[in-house]
Amino acid sequence: MSISEILTHVGKEVSLRGWVSVRRDHGKLIFIDLRDRSGSVQVVFGPWSGEELYEQAKKLRAEWVVSIAGLVKERPENMRNENSPTGSVEIEAKKMEILNEAETPVFDLQTEGYEVGEDVRMRYRYLDLRRSRLQRNIALRHRVVKFIRDYLDEQGFYEIETPILTKSTPEGARDYVVPSRLYEGNFYALPQSPQQYKQLLMAAGFEKYFQIARCFRDEDTRGDRQPEFTQLDMELSFVAQEDVMRLNEELLIALVQKAAPEKRIQQIPFPRISYKEAMEKYGTDRPDVREDKEDKNLLAFCWVVDFPFFEQADNEWTFTHNPFSAPKPEHMQHLMQKESIGDILTTQYDIVLNGFEIGGGSIRNHRPEALKKVFEILGYEEERIQKNFGHMLAALASGAPPHGGIAWGLERFVMLLANEPNIREVIAFPKTGDARDLMMDSPSELEKRQLDELGIEVKKEKLKEK
Ligand code: ASP
Repeated sequence: MSISEILTHVGKEVSLRGWVSVRRDHGKLIFIDLRDRSGSVQVVFGPWSGEELYEQAKKLRAEWVVSIAGLVKERPENMRNENSPTGSVEIEAKKMEILNEAETPVFDLQTEGYEVGEDVRMRYRYLDLRRSRLQRNIALRHRVVKFIRDYLDEQGFYEIETPILTKSTPEGARDYVVPSRLYEGNFYALPQSPQQYKQLLMAAGFEKYFQIARCFRDEDTRGDRQPEFTQLDMELSFVAQEDVMRLNEELLIALVQKAAPEKRIQQIPFPRISYKEAMEKYGTDRPDVREDKEDKNLLAFCWVVDFPFFEQADNEWTFTHNPFSAPKPEHMQHLMQKESIGDILTTQYDIVLNGFEIGGGSIRNHRPEALKKVFEILGYEEERIQKNFGHMLAALASGAPPHGGIAWGLERFVMLLANEPNIREVIAFPKTGDARDLMMDSPSELEKRQLDELGIEVKKEKLKEK
């Protein structure tokens, strides 16, 4: 039985398993707070426990794992703990088995944990995760993902996995690369997003795809960035911008109502702001439109649309969001003629929540000629286009349906639902702010044998620099 169920078992014997949070010795009585995933309850050892059990209880320390059988008793009115959901009862211990002892934890697990240094929290993450705050966050994340899966399944989506060992893509960040043993000197890249694969799935006729997708970007980490993070990624065939936006708006609303009913959405339908207006009025393309920034339960969503497709840097054109996007239909002519390039607007739509970009997507160029024009504007030579994107152009030329999609940064969204200051608080095993896994001690050096097998030699100077 779990602790959350005991309130319906008053007067009965129950058997519980969990961790000792704290022990209080009051002479004739020994109290412990017993904790499992579902909650915590006070257990009392006293005359009814017998000598042997009482002596055993004296030994208990924080984080020992025990199995306890006892009687659920209503506490006297004046002894109730209003702060605990099980504070109206306690367990009179009759039997106990110590399942495991524990070394003294390196930090206090009864607090929220914000006061503990990140390094030590991450090194002992399995302990850190025992805090009720983190248990709640991970449970919330589970519920969010479960809701999304069920909702999209209802809407006829297939969940399809795409490769992790893939090829370098132009998503705008640096790739993580994996050396190939069989093809010495060649490398896989980890996906920055499943962008190309999901479009290929549309070419393959699946029509509605989604994935809870792991993405990898070798960027300098910040509060809301991690080397690896999770997207809710989706793509649909035969849709216009409006369809994707409506579907996502409805999903977000239903999801908030279900997973975080205490939250209030400021405005429905979500307001739409053009990039130009956002920049003029808020000075950012992810405006925080909350009416009341003190309100913890206020969610102010807005869409930002009408982004410029290209921007100029050092006399060269680069894409602002996604090279696979289509221009707005009325600007297709400009793209095809490669004229007024700076004025071409893309079908990109970003979804912003309380000043955080939590997602973005677009309608894609489904005609190969149009995608090719984008690469030409970016200044890619024919050879490079064919080498890097030949498969995309060929797939589009094979009868690809019109399609579009979006991806959400799942952790940013869950972070905001959980009122957390950064995404590490909603990831079970995040990297530290400087991209390390202190628990596993990663990244780490390889043995010479492994390097030899890969045909890789690490430059000595590089090692010395470290
Ligand atoms: N692949 C894009 C990204 O990761 C999202 C999309 O356009 O669907 O930002």
